[in-house]
Amino acid sequence: MSQTTSSHLLPVFARANLAFERGEGAWLIATNGERYLDFGSGIAVNALGHAHPHLVKAVSEQAAKLWHVSNLYRIPEGERAAARLCEASFADVVFFANSGAEAMECAIKMARKYHAARGAPERVRIIAFEGAFHGRTLTTLAAAGQAKYLEGFGPVAEGFDHAPFNDLEAVKKLIGPATAAILIEPVQGEGGVRVPDAQFLRGLREACDRHGLLLIFDEVQTGMGRTGELFAYQRSGVTPDILALAKGLGGGFPVGACLATAAAAAGMTAGTHGSTFGGNPLAMAAVNAVLDVMLAPGFITHVRRTALLLKQKLAAIRDRHPDILADVRGEGLLIGLKAVVPNGDLVAALRGEKLLAVAAGDNVVRLLPPLIIGEAEVTDAVERLARACARLDAAAPMKGAAS
Ligand SMILES: *Cc1c(COP(=O)(O)O)cnc(C)c1O
Repeated sequence: MSQTTSSHLLPVFARANLAFERGEGAWLIATNGERYLDFGSGIAVNALGHAHPHLVKAVSEQAAKLWHVSNLYRIPEGERAAARLCEASFADVVFFANSGAEAMECAIKMARKYHAARGAPERVRIIAFEGAFHGRTLTTLAAAGQAKYLEGFGPVAEGFDHAPFNDLEAVKKLIGPATAAILIEPVQGEGGVRVPDAQFLRGLREACDRHGLLLIFDEVQTGMGRTGELFAYQRSGVTPDILALAKGLGGGFPVGACLATAAAAAGMTAGTHGSTFGGNPLAMAAVNAVLDVMLAPGFITHVRRTALLLKQKLAAIRDRHPDILADVRGEGLLIGLKAVVPNGDLVAALRGEKLLAVAAGDNVVRLLPPLIIGEAEVTDAVERLARACARLDAAAPMKGAAS
């Protein structure tokens, strides 16, 4: 295998030298014919696996009819998708975008406009959290505040204050007369599958209510069944005012959404925001097809049952390999393996066993399988993980031998 492949793609990604040509459910078939068990799902995107027959049919049929018309006209498929998302959540209105970062941009703009429309245009600041990830646009990078992603890209967008994750007192100290909203991932994904205390999220809601702030949940990663509820906020018992979705929403078709209550969205009148591509008929066919599957009776129960089984088996592997795995954490099928060895080594060892996983912050390896996996894939993945751990154990210097 050649080490470097010359490419005209902007080299911003550290790609594995591996390419796939087709997928079937939880499996990806590489260009050399090898089969990989996909527990990365294209970073929590392929929630229904690859080539799901219902999605293939819905998108193919739509592709033969109409792809794009612009938002100059009504889009009945989008009206239906929005109504279904609202019916299944706290929301009254939906804006469709093309990515998670764009869904977040809408959320940020909406929170500021809410206050401006109520005669308080000075309320623009948003409290966000250390370790967060909200996307790669200049404003969503400023929202997350991670220096490593902002460096070299000029002035950092104003208006974000950062508190340590899970620290309610720190949040309260940051609230001032210019604060507009609090923005949080109900489980930090990229940051390392960090789950906050339930009291912490409740405390944020109370602080928002007391000070007239909006609560924004970035559910780009946690949404669409990933945590064992359709939305993670439903697990926490804390309802946001604004919620961003993307990743699993189109089952692999690029689409994002910003959901909101009518009150939170009150400032977003005609002309205040827009998108050329957002919510086009092809994307909406994908969203409606995903919803057909996820809203069907039994789907969410299946995710929960699968997650429980997988977590139990993972805990047993951790107990057997304490020099490789420190902890198993997460909600539903958003699972983090806190590694003892460098997480990149574990991802590579798993790939060696033909199991795909995704690295995250805090030295964590994420398991984000398609939500449609069954017991057979769970057992198979855990066996591959056990072999990878055994291989890393064998490669590590003998513990205790030196002392
Ligand atoms: C992936 C992600 C984003 C960004 O989504 P893009 O589609 O890459 O713009 C934003 N927020 C969270 C929580 C994410 O996981």
